Amino acid sequence: MSTETFEFQVEARQLLQLMIHSVYSNKDVFLRELVSNASDALDKLRLAKLRDDTLDADVSDPHIELETDPDARTLTVRDNGIGMSYDEVGELIGTIANSGTAQVLKELKEAQDAAGAEGLIGQFGVGFYSGFMVADEVTLLTRKAGEERGTRWSSRGEGTYTLERVDDAPQGTSVVLHLKPADPDNQLHDYTSVWKLKEIVKRYSDFITWPIRLVGEKGDDGEAAGPETLNSMKALWARPRDEVSEDEYHELYKHIGHDWREPLETIQLHAEGTFEYQALLFVPSHAPHDLFRQNMRHGLQLYVKRVFIMDDCEALLPSYLRFVKGVVDAQDLSLNVSREILQQDRHIRMMQRRLTKKVLSSVKSMMTRDADKYAMFWREFGAVLKEGLVTDPDNRDALLAVASFASTHEDGDAVTLKQYVERLPEGRDDIYYITGESRETIDNSPHMEAFRERGIEVLLLTDPVDEVWVDAVGEFEGKRLRSVAKGEIDLDAREDDKSEDEQKQQAEAYAGLLGWMRERLDDDVKEVRLSTRLTRSPACLVADADDLTPALESMYRAMGQ
Ligand code: ADP
Ligand code: MG
Repeated sequence: MSTETFEFQVEARQLLQLMIHSVYSNKDVFLRELVSNASDALDKLRLAKLRDDTLDADVSDPHIELETDPDARTLTVRDNGIGMSYDEVGELIGTIANSGTAQVLKELKEAQDAAGAEGLIGQFGVGFYSGFMVADEVTLLTRKAGEERGTRWSSRGEGTYTLERVDDAPQGTSVVLHLKPADPDNQLHDYTSVWKLKEIVKRYSDFITWPIRLVGEKGDDGEAAGPETLNSMKALWARPRDEVSEDEYHELYKHIGHDWREPLETIQLHAEGTFEYQALLFVPSHAPHDLFRQNMRHGLQLYVKRVFIMDDCEALLPSYLRFVKGVVDAQDLSLNVSREILQQDRHIRMMQRRLTKKVLSSVKSMMTRDADKYAMFWREFGAVLKEGLVTDPDNRDALLAVASFASTHEDGDAVTLKQYVERLPEGRDDIYYITGESRETIDNSPHMEAFRERGIEVLLLTDPVDEVWVDAVGEFEGKRLRSVAKGEIDLDAREDDKSEDEQKQQAEAYAGLLGWMRERLDDDVKEVRLSTRLTRSPACLVADADDLTPALESMYRAMGQ
């Protein structure tokens, strides 16, 4: 068989370099990543067989195996799952498909500290490459279920890899790590040690629903290693909350969320009755880099009676909760259920409503329970949640209750509409806001002068979606939401305000100037009028109450409308 040599894609090479000169302090996690891939491969095989039972695949004993050879200093992670074809190996292992990766890599190189870097790495699937943290050579042998020939991939992580077709490969994938010498000072442990492997599996992979077995030689620490199952395989979402530790939940999150960081919040729901299901949802601690991209993959994992059915099941949550990760396990759905069917299914819609409410009420309780955590949540996901104010009128009140905004009356903290209304002075019926690109542009806007002068609180809205929801929502508890940049604004009279007479006089005195200006600016503005809203600037541009604001105009223009 001929062996071909290929070069890693540039980004992949950079990533490998980072792995080899490891940015992680904790190298044990490579095993979690390899086991996670093996588990995914077993899920995929079960599903493929379910969809097509003519598939020539062995599904009799799906499992994951760890095998050590202390003399040769190798560790093998093996699964009898779906496997990969020759082309797939090249595509999946030789490149980084994720478009955001280049950006993250850039940030990664700029990251000052290891903790920051570790966080960033969690944003994309570097899983397989993490093997190079502990091995100086990695060989992968795989055969795709239903295919006859297999593929061997091998690399020392230094820019190239080889591919070779193999005649006698077993179905599934085995990854052989040629381990670096142990170096406990640098957290590089002896990964041929049986107890070490047991410890890692217990810590990171206990909930994996397939058996993880230890086979082969005795470990060098003398402990016998029969074919022993290391993980308990318990579905965490089916267990009572008080029996599961936070750490266990967090490891599940990392597996399904492909994130290396802890989640911000864990949410559990058991629905009983005619349509029974269990949900275990997680709010990540950081927004993914592609949160606002069209093709962002979102949605929960769907299981039916403990059987994994699909990833990214969008039907289970509305788009404005697309950052939520987790598992939903339903009792009474068909194992063959398709995405199309899900979109129309009445039960799924009920589930979506219930899950949405549950997430929103969790945010609400986070708000009262832990203000810092809520602030973190809102900073990461507020801009997405606000989309719901426009798209989900049913939950508008719940969303408004958890929304908060920067304000002229707060330095760092945000205020809720409720707080704004509570401190409104007697007789004032408007909630004022201003929109713009950043707090600085807004603060320097001439529109703000009169408000600042009079000490009137103005909400400072800087997300693109703000323009849209304020119009859709219109009012809160009977108070109108009003832009300081729109229409005529009749601020309360102040002591030094001019009397009507004076205003009239003034209007006459300036009639000539205004007329001249109207003429000169005819092509550009609708009207020129005297204003009380300015205190320092001589003039400002104002939109009609029902006009698009400048920012919204440019947003629509950008969207090609
Ligand atoms: P991720 O798991 O986040 O997609 P990885 O780097 O861990 O990223 O894996 C890249 C891809 O390689 C996987 O998505 C999968 O398609 C393929 N792959 C990795 N390991 C296996 C395996 N054991 N069996 C089948 N496919 C695998
Ligand atoms: Mg992976």
